[in-house]
Amino acid sequence: ANWVYGFGAGDEHEIDRDRLGGKGAGLAEMARMGLPVPPGLTIIADVCRYFYDNGRSFPEGLKEEVAEGLAAVEAATGRRFGSGERPLLLSVRSGSRVSMPGMMDTILNLGLNDETVLSLARDTGDARFAWDSYRRFIQMYSDVALGLDQEVFEELLEERLSELGHQAETQLTAGQLEDIVTSYKQLLSEELDCDFPQDPFEQLWGAIAAVFSSWTSARAVAYRTLHNIPTEWGTAVNIQAMVFGNLGNGSATGVAFTRNPSTGENALYGEFLVNAQGEDVVAGIRTPQSVTEAGRIASGGEKPSLEKLMPEAFAELATIAARLERQYGDMQDMEFTIERGKLWMLQTRSGKRAAGAAVRIAMDMADEGLISRSEAIMRIDPATLDQMLHPTIRPEYRGTQIGSGLPASPGAVTGEIVFTAEEAIAAKAEKRSVILVRTETSPEDIQGMTAAVGVLTTRGGMTSHAAVVARGMGVPCVTGAGNMRVDRFDNILHGIGGVMLHAGDKVTIDGATGRVMKGAAPTQKPALSEDFQRLMVWADDVRRMKVRTNADTPADARAARDFGAEGIGLCRTEHMFFEGGRIHMMRRMILAETEEGRRAALDQLLPMQRDDFEALFSIMHGLPVTIRLLDPPLHEFLPKTESEVDDVADALGMDKQALRHRLDALYEFNPMLGHRGCRLAISYPEITEMQARAIFEAAVAAARATGEAVVPEIMVPLVSLRAELDYVKERIDAVAREVMTEAGMEIEYLVGTMIELPRAALRAHKIAETSAFFSLGTNDLTQTTFGMSRDDAPGFIGTYQKKGIIERDPFVSLDFDGVGELMRMAAERGRQTRSDLQIGICGEHGGDPVSIRFCEGLALDYVSCSPFRVPTARLAAAQATI
Ligand code: ADP
Ligand code: MG
Ligand code: MG
Repeated sequence: ANWVYGFGAGDEHEIDRDRLGGKGAGLAEMARMGLPVPPGLTIIADVCRYFYDNGRSFPEGLKEEVAEGLAAVEAATGRRFGSGERPLLLSVRSGSRVSMPGMMDTILNLGLNDETVLSLARDTGDARFAWDSYRRFIQMYSDVALGLDQEVFEELLEERLSELGHQAETQLTAGQLEDIVTSYKQLLSEELDCDFPQDPFEQLWGAIAAVFSSWTSARAVAYRTLHNIPTEWGTAVNIQAMVFGNLGNGSATGVAFTRNPSTGENALYGEFLVNAQGEDVVAGIRTPQSVTEAGRIASGGEKPSLEKLMPEAFAELATIAARLERQYGDMQDMEFTIERGKLWMLQTRSGKRAAGAAVRIAMDMADEGLISRSEAIMRIDPATLDQMLHPTIRPEYRGTQIGSGLPASPGAVTGEIVFTAEEAIAAKAEKRSVILVRTETSPEDIQGMTAAVGVLTTRGGMTSHAAVVARGMGVPCVTGAGNMRVDRFDNILHGIGGVMLHAGDKVTIDGATGRVMKGAAPTQKPALSEDFQRLMVWADDVRRMKVRTNADTPADARAARDFGAEGIGLCRTEHMFFEGGRIHMMRRMILAETEEGRRAALDQLLPMQRDDFEALFSIMHGLPVTIRLLDPPLHEFLPKTESEVDDVADALGMDKQALRHRLDALYEFNPMLGHRGCRLAISYPEITEMQARAIFEAAVAAARATGEAVVPEIMVPLVSLRAELDYVKERIDAVAREVMTEAGMEIEYLVGTMIELPRAALRAHKIAETSAFFSLGTNDLTQTTFGMSRDDAPGFIGTYQKKGIIERDPFVSLDFDGVGELMRMAAERGRQTRSDLQIGICGEHGGDPVSIRFCEGLALDYVSCSPFRVPTARLAAAQATI
């Protein structure tokens, strides 16, 4: 087998991303394009699998292949690893198939020991730099490969700095750094009972094993779970010649995006630090400088931009950025280092971006002819669109501003502040909304960041770890709020104007503007960008399925229309009965022991229902509206506790004892499988008659008012027998005839059913003889197919997922094999008897992109989802056709 592939040292081979990992593939591609990449080699991800399958050992032949690869790097650089006048130093870097920023380990400056540090000093003529690199190496290697926490070194360093009266480590002299290295080594042998390994090859293999091991570190595992990345993929290891951004003030290290990752603007965007190495920029230890002059001005930076400071290196970076973007046809996120004025590229990958930026970039790239329209449509993750519907703080709001930072991830949120990831996780468990406040975040904070509604850091830039991760998760985030300070000792957040906030105090952050306000600030919905609207038009052009909405109230219906809903796929009438005084009338109806009693209550409900429907019809302006007849178990409307019973008895003027008897009579063991849905309509046809009358009278009124004919679609829930539907339909038809005669007007309407019980799917061909349409009620269908109550499932679905019994929660993402099979059967059998049968889906799955793709496969006529998911569904339905 071939375990190792070289790059930048005269090697040509096919670039297989799955084996080389994203980083290795990017390095190989850049080298092939002739870009300045320090040469190196990649140990493929297959070795990672071998490593874990074989008690953390390496496959045969690997040592030899690595040695060969190293020899090529030595030849290309004219340096020798571990000895000689010009020592070769290496970085050992992880890199899996998809990028997991900051989740795994990297070791820099490998190959330094007590001898090579001296040759490095001679070779570069910079002893300070050589000792500083050695210091960094001992610290990093001990942490990553030997498991000794960096913190002990940091403490020692801080101590030494204050003894010497230095503000920053850049002030340390070569001699002082040499002393620190001695102390570091001493500290290490005390803590670990061994000496720091001097043999460069021992260092190298220790580092390789450490990088493979970091694949299963707690934070990497957490990230993979969050992003559904399979463990089997493993990571590759990249071993690369070092270049030095910390070789004096002509050197620098930085990160750049080919376009702005927050706004999508087509302009190079980046940050860098002079005389710095590796993670210094992303770790947010020093607040970095802007790469471009425009960026510096926009962010109000005081220190010069790279464009001004090192114009030649900058110009080369800009050219390379443009080439890489063309090569990959996507916005790139690049890491670079400048060593004594010479630019080196260290990484390139597709850049993470905020949802709004993603839309703008895709549309711009299509306009520029870089990608096709279909590609642009495919570029956007539909699930992120609702991020763009996120609110911002009202611009005119003049509350107490306590800080400002960089707009790292859009959205305005209010929450109580917490200072640690653990507190954020605990708060989430108690359903409290919190903002995680940190000086800077580290990869360990990832779980805390998911638990928080927002993230605020006082240091770090737009490319800091916090910013990247938050954007990826769609969590609002403000970074680098330099006018705020976190006092971790007393747990206080100091804001401008001397404001002091403690854990539990409320703040509002706005990740689109960078504003931080005290308390809860009022927010507003953003205007949808022109790019967003255009994307929607393109999506609408190619999609086949219609997108409707689940709306129970006029407000829902209006919101959904704004988002482009093409009708109502599900109006749950029972929601209309919970409001205001209606619940009394509803209770009176349910508690009535005779038909007359029920009819009396229904007569009072009728005008209210009619008004509701009329409002919906006029908002929907002739678009289809599917109204479901009363569905839920009646006990949902009834009092439960003793005191509720007393209140209801008082309100209805009923005898308490009589009420209790009636409640006992209505008691059900399993209401979800009890007297609900069409079973109610069969027991109490007068309920159906009232609802049908309300619907038809509203249709008449709306048609007269707007001049547009509404076609109500009346939906009978929980049908499993055709006879059930026949019975209910007869009642509906009778009422329809009555109303039409009264009004002297014809109203077109459809009667259909939900397919939400397995029997209905099995007998779909019979049911379709009566039913003009099917609506796949996948919430109940999932529940009844699995025999798993959806209210109780959360108690054990998590365990199922953890133990690998199921991958996805079937209530969120459709179970294709089981529930999906029933859907397919229902569609096929239904169409057998009624070729023009209209079929849609109205469960939660109607807004889930993966499920929508499945629905396209069944050639459904429409999907229906909650109003805020309508844009997501429009895009997902378009993608499903491409
Ligand atoms: P991550 O996957 O966390 O981004 P990397 O492997 O990219 O980790 O390494 C982190 C940083 O280390 C890089 O951004 C770069 O600044 C520095 N680095 C890596 N390899 C080299 C190298 N060969 N020379 C100089 N710096 C390097
Ligand atoms: Mg990197
Ligand atoms: Mg149902």
